Amino acid sequence: MTRLLLLLERLAALIQQGLRESAGQHGLQPVHLLILAYLERANRYSDIPIAIAEYLGITRGPLSQSLAVLEAKGLIEREPDAKDGRIQHIRLRDPARELLRESWLARLSMALQGLPQAAALEQGLALLLAEMQQLNRHQAFGICRSCAHFQPIGEGAGRCGLTGDALSLADSEKLCREWTDPSASSRSSPAAGSSPGAPKASPPTAETGAT
Ligand code: SF4
Repeated sequence: MTRLLLLLERLAALIQQGLRESAGQHGLQPVHLLILAYLERANRYSDIPIAIAEYLGITRGPLSQSLAVLEAKGLIEREPDAKDGRIQHIRLRDPARELLRESWLARLSMALQGLPQAAALEQGLALLLAEMQQLNRHQAFGICRSCAHFQPIGEGAGRCGLTGDALSLADSEKLCREWTDPSASSRSSPAAGSSPGAPKASPPTAETGAT
């Protein structure tokens, strides 16, 4: 157990170091890069300020300041929700995608490629993460296709059982703040048509799709 703890600490320190270096190269703070990396993976229900704040565990004030910096640098843009103009979606602009391609994430991705027993490692880390999220009372986010509400319709596409919206293959691979653990026995099934800001159907628990 001690060795495992040391390994996790060392990995976390190295990732933080890479993050700081990448951010510094672009005149940004580490949190700015974390916001960009999150937005690259977030789906249409999760690219809103409250979801970013929940995912990163930061408050609205610092988040607003960070979004203002990223907007001023031309890395993000805001787009009002088609159904509810009070909701603003935050979209990445092309320079942000380029920046991420050369960031610490690319190095991490390279290190993960070809790692033996990657599937077992992923499963173990997912369980550890879910445990930590419960201990910290942190909301679980997860990959859409592994959600209890994902209804496959073939070729990777599907439909969201929570909102009734169609989901493309690309949508199914994105992060969602409404993700629900399929193994949660007590979950309920809210009616279709829920808004993007609707509360989760059940509390998050351990599952490999959680992030
Ligand atoms: S199926 Fe689940 S993860 Fe996918 S959009 Fe619906 S609530 Fe979100």
